[in-house]
Amino acid sequence: MFTRCTECRTLQTVTTQQLRAGHGMLRCKKKKCSKLFNALEFISDTKDQETPLATTHWPSAPKNPTEKSYWLIGSLIGFTLLIGQLSYFEGPALPQNPSFRPWLEKFCGLLACQLPTYQHTKELTVLQGALTTQSDQTIVFSAVISNQAAFEQAYPKLKLTLLDYAGLPFSQRVFQPHDYLPKESAAPLLLLPDATSEISLSLAAPKTKIGGYTFEFTN
Ligand SMILES: [Zn+2]
Repeated sequence: MFTRCTECRTLQTVTTQQLRAGHGMLRCKKKKCSKLFNALEFISDTKDQETPLATTHWPSAPKNPTEKSYWLIGSLIGFTLLIGQLSYFEGPALPQNPSFRPWLEKFCGLLACQLPTYQHTKELTVLQGALTTQSDQTIVFSAVISNQAAFEQAYPKLKLTLLDYAGLPFSQRVFQPHDYLPKESAAPLLLLPDATSEISLSLAAPKTKIGGYTFEFTN
């Protein structure tokens, strides 16, 4: 497709992917101009479209500054209502949806609201996990976890199950992040994208001989 810069009227090609990525806005390719403009104003399938199309796909902002701010506020309210409606149908799942979350983060930044922390335990990988018996009658579970998500995540709960020599579970406990993180990490318990963290748990050794163990992260 083709469009023209609303500032310098330079003709430029544009793809639907670009429109979608920029939410209808495009950076002028002419170096001297390089304005961010509404690409939908002069959108066309042919090169020689000079006048705006009768039916624009996007409401263009009025030129009058006061009307403009009303338009912006209107859009924000519209979007807030949209979030409200989506939240109503999707419940708390929406901020946890990786394709919606960047949008929500952007608009929450504008509206100064707080999104619930992203929690996808499936996007946490365990690099090393080990259970060792110490000489002082304690067992130590340690692991290195890594956040593969594009967002910071809350540290998960750790469910540790001990198995006997027959492979049957005989003890299970759920640990909170403050149980397995170093004491000095008092600050917000968030794991940044791509960050790795060492976790370690020290427990009294059970009477039953440990034949194995399993663990999983839960929210
Ligand atoms: Zn331009």
